[in-house]
Amino acid sequence: MKIGFIGLGNMGGPMARNLAAAGHEVAGFDPVAPMPQGVTATPDVATAARGADVVITMLPDGAILRRVAGDLIPAMASGAVLCDCSTVDVESARAVAAQAVAAGLGALDAPVSGGISGAAAGTLTFMVGGSDADFAKVQPLFQIMGQKAVHCGDSGAGQAAKICNNMILGVTMIATCEAFSLADRLGLDRGRLFDVVSTSSGSSWTMNTYCPAPGVGPQSPADNGYKPGFAAELMLKDLRLSQQAAEAADAPTPMGELAAALYARFVEDEDGRGKDFSAMLPRFEGLHRR
Ligand code: NAD
Repeated sequence: MKIGFIGLGNMGGPMARNLAAAGHEVAGFDPVAPMPQGVTATPDVATAARGADVVITMLPDGAILRRVAGDLIPAMASGAVLCDCSTVDVESARAVAAQAVAAGLGALDAPVSGGISGAAAGTLTFMVGGSDADFAKVQPLFQIMGQKAVHCGDSGAGQAAKICNNMILGVTMIATCEAFSLADRLGLDRGRLFDVVSTSSGSSWTMNTYCPAPGVGPQSPADNGYKPGFAAELMLKDLRLSQQAAEAADAPTPMGELAAALYARFVEDEDGRGKDFSAMLPRFEGLHRR
């Protein structure tokens, strides 16, 4: 396939490299990031998009996506599919898809889970919103960049799944960290707490796979000085998207709201910026109840 790839940063770079390595013709554009191996550099968004069967975007946020889509859509060939893999607000995803469809294009929102290591290894999970036909067309590319693609529903459904998943992630990470903090003060060994919880009803991905306590459980960013991994500010971005969506949809999400407030404090007022999101645990260590 002929592919245009816009946004070749930490995630987009390795995703585009994997597509090129699988034999696809990939034209890339990014104002800053270097071109990955096998990807042809183009001078602007429109040149990367022209003649492509599928154009993939991997951009920081919804405002940038909307701007880029304004340049992309008029340049794309009729019947081509615009597939946005960024994590953005549901409204931007739906607005861009509607604009693409009105111009005779296909459109998918296909945010990912799996982080930078998953992008490099080609093991991402894609959560996809859009039509059956567009999903089927891009599926072979999802199979190269990832290990699983779930078709979640119409436009916006992929972003909805992503922010619901990451709201659970933020809430459970905080719950796991505060449980370790309580265990410390009760004199309970962290390794023993892991042994119990990881095989009991309090288990979660944040305990079993990504344990925030150094030296406990499988290797995780906690064992590497809390170097991300998944940065606290990205967690905050996703929690804010979930709260924005909850407000627009009138959905009660008190735990998500509290998690967003805690990560905001950690990133904006304390020393959380640049640390992995599991560094909530050392944050709790320094605090007192009163
Ligand atoms: P990044 O900042 O490394 O990459 C974004 C790239 O977009 C940058 O290289 C930037 O130069 C480029 N860009 C900005 N404006 C542009 C424009 N107008 N035209 C073309 N390119 C432009 O970010 P990332 O970590 O690759 O994340 C990308 C998206 O993936 C975000 O929405 C993020 O939330 C999501 N995501 C990230 C992770 C992660 O672990 N990093 C995991 C899952 C999802």
